[in-house]
Amino acid sequence: MTLVRTDAAARAAVRTHDLDAVVVGAGGAGLYAALELKQDLGPQARIGVISKLYPTRSHTGAAQGGVCAALANTEEDHWEWHWFDTVKGGDYLVDQDAAEVMCRDAIETIIKLEHLGLPFDRTPEGLINQRRFGGHTRNYGEGPVRRSCYAADRTGHAILQTLYQQCIRAEILFYDEYQVVDLAMPGGPDGGVSGVVALQLATGEVHSFRARAVLFATGGFGKIYKVTSNAHTLTGDGVAVAWRRGLPLEDMEFFQFHPTGMYKLGFLLSEAMRGEGGILLNGEGERFMERYAPTMKDLASRDVVSRSIYQEIAEGRGIDGKDYVHLDVRHLGAQVLNEKLPDMSGFIRTYFGIEPLTDLVPIQPTAHYAMGGIPTDIDGRVLADELGQTVPGFYAAGECACVSVHGANRLGTNSLLDILVFGRRAGIAMAQELRSAADPEPDLEAELAVSRAVSELRGRQDGERAATIRAELQELMFTKCGVHRSGRLLEECRSEVRALRERARHLVIDDKGCRYNTDLVEALELGFLLDCAEATVESAVARMESRGAHAREDCPERDDAAWLKHTFAFRDPDGGDARLAYKPVTVTKFEPKPRVY
Ligand SMILES: Cc1cc2nc3c(=O)[nH]c(=O)nc-3n(C[C@H](O)[C@H](O)[C@H](O)COP(=O)(O)OP(=O)(O)OC[C@H]3O[C@@H](n4cnc5c(N)ncnc54)[C@H](O)[C@@H]3O)c2cc1C
Repeated sequence: MTLVRTDAAARAAVRTHDLDAVVVGAGGAGLYAALELKQDLGPQARIGVISKLYPTRSHTGAAQGGVCAALANTEEDHWEWHWFDTVKGGDYLVDQDAAEVMCRDAIETIIKLEHLGLPFDRTPEGLINQRRFGGHTRNYGEGPVRRSCYAADRTGHAILQTLYQQCIRAEILFYDEYQVVDLAMPGGPDGGVSGVVALQLATGEVHSFRARAVLFATGGFGKIYKVTSNAHTLTGDGVAVAWRRGLPLEDMEFFQFHPTGMYKLGFLLSEAMRGEGGILLNGEGERFMERYAPTMKDLASRDVVSRSIYQEIAEGRGIDGKDYVHLDVRHLGAQVLNEKLPDMSGFIRTYFGIEPLTDLVPIQPTAHYAMGGIPTDIDGRVLADELGQTVPGFYAAGECACVSVHGANRLGTNSLLDILVFGRRAGIAMAQELRSAADPEPDLEAELAVSRAVSELRGRQDGERAATIRAELQELMFTKCGVHRSGRLLEECRSEVRALRERARHLVIDDKGCRYNTDLVEALELGFLLDCAEATVESAVARMESRGAHAREDCPERDDAAWLKHTFAFRDPDGGDARLAYKPVTVTKFEPKPRVY
């Protein structure tokens, strides 16, 4: 009797919103999709963007170095070269049809962004200026090319501000500081998605957003690692929600470590610092990348540079024998540092208290980017399985999605490009589907389940705190499922992640209140992190080769005969091993070759 009354009360307390389409996430991917949707469907369309952060605080705003397109503004370049670099950068795990779309569309996308108002840096002739970035080459690998378009070292900030202003102008509805915790999927994946369930952070109330189409653009999950460039909020919420709902996650074993994180802090020092001429030095003052990548040197792809740094450290050539090396930008001079890299130079001065013009900067690889995520086709439609079945009404774009254009390792500046190209394409496809989609069917069970889970957490008096388990998870993933992996470490990691999951069933929160309950939010986010970590390690244990960011001591070679395929991991609802399926890689032009830089 009590239970019935409680459920009825909980249901009555759920606030509902009826929209045409819901976009979850207000980073570059979500905003561009929303803008496109609104433009396609016209002023009457009710397009809502839900974001747990105030939109301009999304991680896109932290992107520094640039967004690439073969504009050839400062030297010869072709989109086909960019396409090749992307495929090679991804260690041939890239779907080449998708990468072709991205590299070809890049040029139009950048020009369109400029017309939307993005203040790019200029050449003396007034064209969009371009600089070098790792793995971007001329003529299929002959040497570095200037392909990254940038607004100083605040490119993401400029993109986010530009798109947000355009969205406000288009009268898109914003639901700021609402955290989505579940999908409305009343009939399972075949029946499609009909909205989302969210918590309003300011009040603690449960809101149900009903819509005929939903896009997840919730960003990455770099907070599964201890040393990371990712913001505190990058906890993989969308990725985890899809996984819990029985949908697959693709290529989760590939997580990029960026070579130049600030030592111990993890904050990113953009590749633009090397793009402008910065070099890496070991403890003997040697420019060691010349040995590992004779052509591209410090601008080899990120997985190669990060592994080389670890190799130097392992062989005792870290600085003073410790676990870091130096980034040397002294020779770039005051003008480059202060005008082209002002934020980076400021970080170094503020956080290390040293002067980049005269001092060497301590760096170590930092967890940076999720190549894997929710599988989609090239129009953002979420895939329900490895055979290409799609989920009606459900889309994903940006870092939470896997198209796959980054394969086993993403090239710098290709992520901002990915969110723009595929965010926009998803918006266009959603608009098309909306013209004929049926009215949404509510998922009352999901609404109720969220209310129940929240009251249970609030009501519990004893248990462990989320922060303790999170810290252990981050340490574990960093040491056992990071840059260097082995079968033994991965197996240990898997069983330890499971043990942490068990402990996380009994979390206690100190704040029992409703308003901005960050204690509650962190408990929910820990659940998402554990899901992402589990899918990552499960996929990594199974892949018996080394490719891109997945480097195993016990199987050091790439094995195309057995492993030129995408992993699709499905959660086991009973908590056992994930079910793994595989999907062939689409190879259209570039046959896999050994990868040298
Ligand atoms: C420090 C740094 C520098 C980078 N520099 C570059 C660069 O120079 N070039 C490049 O190409 N790439 C760069 N990247 C990578 C790139 O910035 C990101 O991959 C990209 O911006 C991700 O965009 P997104 O739209 O997918 O997600 P994000 O911009 O991360 O936005 C995610 C959105 O989802 C919302 N959200 C998440 N969970 C929920 C939830 N449960 N409910 C509601 N809302 C939710 C958040 O509020 C946010 O609005 C960098 C990344 C970092 C961390």
